[in-house]
Amino acid sequence: WAAVVKQMREGVFITDTDGSIVYVNPAFEKITGYTEKEAVGRDASKIIGASDGEFIYNGISGTISRGETWSGQLTNVHKKGSRYDAEVTCSPVTNSSGQTSYSVTVLRDNTYELALLNQLQQSQKMESIGFLASGIVHDFNNLLTIIITNTELIRLTLDESHPARELTETIINVSDRAVSLMKQLLTFSRGQKNDPQLVNLHDVVRGMKTILSLLIGRDINLVIKTMIALNEIRMNVTQLEQIILNLAINARDAMPNGGQLAMETSNVTFESEHTAKNLGLPTGDYVLLRVKDSGVGMSPETLSCIFEPFYTTKSGKGTGLGLSTVKGIIYQSAGAIVVHSKLGKGTTFNVYFPKAAKGQTRENTTG
Ligand code: ADP
Ligand code: MG
Repeated sequence: WAAVVKQMREGVFITDTDGSIVYVNPAFEKITGYTEKEAVGRDASKIIGASDGEFIYNGISGTISRGETWSGQLTNVHKKGSRYDAEVTCSPVTNSSGQTSYSVTVLRDNTYELALLNQLQQSQKMESIGFLASGIVHDFNNLLTIIITNTELIRLTLDESHPARELTETIINVSDRAVSLMKQLLTFSRGQKNDPQLVNLHDVVRGMKTILSLLIGRDINLVIKTMIALNEIRMNVTQLEQIILNLAINARDAMPNGGQLAMETSNVTFESEHTAKNLGLPTGDYVLLRVKDSGVGMSPETLSCIFEPFYTTKSGKGTGLGLSTVKGIIYQSAGAIVVHSKLGKGTTFNVYFPKAAKGQTRENTTG
């Protein structure tokens, strides 16, 4: 039996009635980082479930002393300090007179499984938002149609010189824009094909200079550095603009007292597997869009949530949909987005778009 327990992949340890460890198997040493020598004689609660606190421990020992089995999920701290999750089953061992003399615990490290599950839940959340969005888009489009037709009718009744004529034109223009935004949202939420075309990011960023300056206001200094000899990418231009606008608006919001917003583009090549893998991209040529602000920055907690739909720190003012949309578009185009930020130290977003494949390239890209 000892040989069997020694060769199990699950960690196994035995404690006496005080909870101090009397035996551990080799898998236990591997999972927890504690050798047999270090573990034997120690209080098991110092090694397993340490970060779940005393509360859970009392629960486990209560169950055991009643002669029952406890099983559940515990968060543990490895000897080296890192956290891991484990599925744990603790059973009492009774002697011939029916008394509990020992308990035997089996633990299985399932950190990886839990991470996968988390990812799955995340993508399901995105999917349900997609459904939600497509429902809203339909109704919203109907409302917009009513707004547009009525405004057209009002305009027809106004003289050329009437001051309200210009206002009606603005309403129509803005509503048209809303219709096209809604169409995009629909495309995004249903994961439908959109019509990507060959574009030069340099042209797109340059073309948006005026609107960007208007958007960020006079207290923020806009610096654009793009290179003309930029490789072409395959993207839907409206989506590209949406990415840039979202990142710029967030940067503006992060600099209520002014600052600097820099937009840069460049060609980059990932030759080493390592760099590319870190971004989840294949090696090759990419075009980089860097959006850098000197704003308030983010705490690590905020940073870990920003791509979640509906996550916002702008109570009442934000929708929390900006960055999740941005990420959706980028992933659809086989690119990647990475963010670097520290509280009080500004934020940098790096967006990588794959260079358009050969044969797709237009001549004369400088425009
Ligand atoms: P929203 O702008 O509606 O809050 P987003 O998805 O665009 O939603 O952004 C989510 C959150 O990420 C913001 O509420 C903010 O906390 C954070 N964030 C995004 N960009 C920046 C930035 N440039 N600087 C600081 N925080 C940012
Ligand atoms: Mg935003």
